[in-house]
Amino acid sequence: MRYKKAIMTSKLAINAIYMATEGEGIHIGTPQIFVRFQGCNIGCINCDSKDTWEFTDGNMNLDAVVARVEELAGEYPMRVKRVSITGGDPLHPKHVPAVLELSRALKKRGYFLNLEAAGTRIVHEIFDVLDFISFDFKTPSTGVKTNQKLIIKLWEQYRNKAQIKSVIATRHDFEAAFDAYQAISEQTEHKFDTPWVLTPCYEPGDELPKTLSQSIVELNHTYGAPFRVILQQHKVMYTSDFGDF
Ligand code: SF4
Repeated sequence: MRYKKAIMTSKLAINAIYMATEGEGIHIGTPQIFVRFQGCNIGCINCDSKDTWEFTDGNMNLDAVVARVEELAGEYPMRVKRVSITGGDPLHPKHVPAVLELSRALKKRGYFLNLEAAGTRIVHEIFDVLDFISFDFKTPSTGVKTNQKLIIKLWEQYRNKAQIKSVIATRHDFEAAFDAYQAISEQTEHKFDTPWVLTPCYEPGDELPKTLSQSIVELNHTYGAPFRVILQQHKVMYTSDFGDF
């Protein structure tokens, strides 16, 4: 389905819009505004945002979402000009027309746009507008399978503006990511060089999983270091006492 001529009249289903510092992936530490869509039916077992699963009616129109982003961005010249569109699953077909319109509206206003993709589909109309795509490769502990062909397609068309992310809970997860990395590398004509980030699995508010993180780092070294290992700092940073200094 093509969405180029989509005209947004209905409201967007928004879970939250807020300013925070990116806590994971290769842009870790960068302040940005998160627009979190409500609704996801992918069902990762270890999902840390299950409150975004339920599909609800739209609650904000496009102008209101853009206005809230502009308000959070602050006053010129100290503006935060980055937005991360996330979820839920922002690429679920129910969200796609809204995400496309929002992306176009924010690009017109000069924002750098990242989108957190669950790794289940590529939506070219949206990906063409984005500045960066974070694309999941789901590991066995999630209970969800990523089609390797999608990773190859991502690499072929968007490799200069993408990263792949995998959550690692067990050695089996690491080995599944490595097997996929190897299989994909063998199928790509040129070097498969899209950053692939592994992140240890843990719940928001938990202690950093030191032993698991060390094990992942060791495995990565042993397997020739194809991955970057980056922890999710937001899970220890954004707790109920955030702001006490
Ligand atoms: S795709 Fe994201 S929001 Fe949906 S179940 Fe998986 S981790 Fe949760």
